[in-house]
Amino acid sequence: MIVDSHCHLDFPDFAAELDDVVARARDAGLSRMVTINTRVRRHADILAIAERFADVYCSVGTHPHYAHEELDITADDLARIAENPRVVAIGEVGLDYFYDTGPRDAQEQGLRTHIAAARMTGLPLVIHSRDADADMAVILEQEQGRGAFPAVLHCFTGGRALAFKAIELGMYVSFSGVLTFKKSEELRVIAAELPAERILVETDSPYLAPGKFRGKRNEPAYVVETAKVLADARGRDYAAVAAQTSDNFFRLFSKVPRPA
Ligand SMILES: [Zn+2]
Ligand SMILES: [Zn+2]
Repeated sequence: MIVDSHCHLDFPDFAAELDDVVARARDAGLSRMVTINTRVRRHADILAIAERFADVYCSVGTHPHYAHEELDITADDLARIAENPRVVAIGEVGLDYFYDTGPRDAQEQGLRTHIAAARMTGLPLVIHSRDADADMAVILEQEQGRGAFPAVLHCFTGGRALAFKAIELGMYVSFSGVLTFKKSEELRVIAAELPAERILVETDSPYLAPGKFRGKRNEPAYVVETAKVLADARGRDYAAVAAQTSDNFFRLFSKVPRPA
């Protein structure tokens, strides 16, 4: 059993064959998938997918690329949407200084609004952080000081300082297909050193296909490839890493029922 803690099943890449994509994920041993919201204004689309498949849940939030378009959405608005039993996390939200699509002050404001919603609901905050390690560490430390909230740094590609700051703040760190890339030696070293009970795996599909699928469209079933590389990096076998990361997932995403 394994879990994909972060995918985007509402993206057009999947539209024509969503049933097949979910079926292949089940065949690969996935027990749960969380399809992650990027625009609250389109939340109905993602909720429809989570309501269609018993093993798919969703989040609510605004990706940093769209932060400036959704600054009118309040923490109360997010919390209200999250009352739905299929909505199990807040985000994704964060800082992306690589693409810098949204103005940075808007990204920060969006991040703080979502943190308030995570605190209010007790649901995990799904954090996107790209080339923003220093600012992210400062904001997370400051906000955790104002009141604890559960969180994961998703698709982690940052440096060890941010990874260990997240651990120190009680957060989780999630690895995607990037972990399998040849150039990601430093990332594998970080992944090997983090505490076992704080690591998650994800695909972030349709992007970032891992290992032998690189360059193709990614899908939840391929989370297995990332877990295999994580297992190698940590000197464990696949089954142990799949079980550990699943256990971690259900502890953090506490609204998602464990399979019987
Ligand atoms: Zn992201
Ligand atoms: Zn994502």
